[in-house]
Amino acid sequence: MKMYDVTGAIFEGMTVYKNKPEKQPRIKPVTNGYVTESRIELDVHTGTHIDAPLHMVTKGETFETIDLERLVGSCKVLDLTHVEDCITRADLEPLDIGPGDFVLFKTKNSWDEAFSFTFVYLSSDGAEYLADIGVRGVGTDALGIERNQEGHPTHKSLFAAGIIIIEGLRLQEVPKGEYFMVAAPLKLLGTDASPARVLLFEGITVTS
Ligand SMILES: [Zn+2]
Repeated sequence: MKMYDVTGAIFEGMTVYKNKPEKQPRIKPVTNGYVTESRIELDVHTGTHIDAPLHMVTKGETFETIDLERLVGSCKVLDLTHVEDCITRADLEPLDIGPGDFVLFKTKNSWDEAFSFTFVYLSSDGAEYLADIGVRGVGTDALGIERNQEGHPTHKSLFAAGIIIIEGLRLQEVPKGEYFMVAAPLKLLGTDASPARVLLFEGITVTS
């Protein structure tokens, strides 16, 4: 059984959204004698993370409403490495996507070492198409599922349909295909997102 860790590392100086200094994590080791207990200060959208509706919806649902059972199960890595600007309905239509699928977009973003202001994102018509199908979740290898879309229609269409959004995946090493996914966020209460460790396992078949 092969396992892929598709999580981005968290450290001071890592890639953060639009290179905003206030989004950098702060990691401060506190040492007392031989005992070290570090403190971290972290935006909940740091690195690989899962968004909750509160992120884009006033008084939206908070992180603990995302059932862990929906974050563990089969997923499909889709090869969208040829897409230049944004993933549209036309890009998704030829792919095998069905109700209940958790789809992960592998794009050229997975090769970016630094933040790209022209990262590949999901267009609003692509989001509406996935909502119509009734997918369980969407994961992307950019730090955002959309970029500079007025009113954030992509986030809103996905949240309105109850679709989970994972951002900041690292999929460079992962061939397209079906995997068993374990996306394990921190058990945060009341927040709009949480960092998560995301693992993909090859060769596990889900029977139920
Ligand atoms: Zn986010």
